[in-house]
Amino acid sequence: MMEEYRDEYVKVCPWCGGSEMIEAYQSAYGALTAKGNPFGGCALYHAVCRRCGSVVRSFVKEPEKLLKKKDRR
Ligand SMILES: [Zn+2]
Repeated sequence: MMEEYRDEYVKVCPWCGGSEMIEAYQSAYGALTAKGNPFGGCALYHAVCRRCGSVVRSFVKEPEKLLKKKDRR
């Protein structure tokens, strides 16, 4: 049985009204890299609606990691 995933920000899919999200992520070649910091990168996570398959929200878990160390807060 899959652990149910509730997105912190997305309660209801704006496309179909479904409330069950699947948490998916891209890593390696799908990683997100900030402009100006080609060596940084974060896995890109997605909240995917279980009912219609829309990617409702895309996000990185640690946005600071996109920045160079000296620019991080
Ligand atoms: Zn949906």
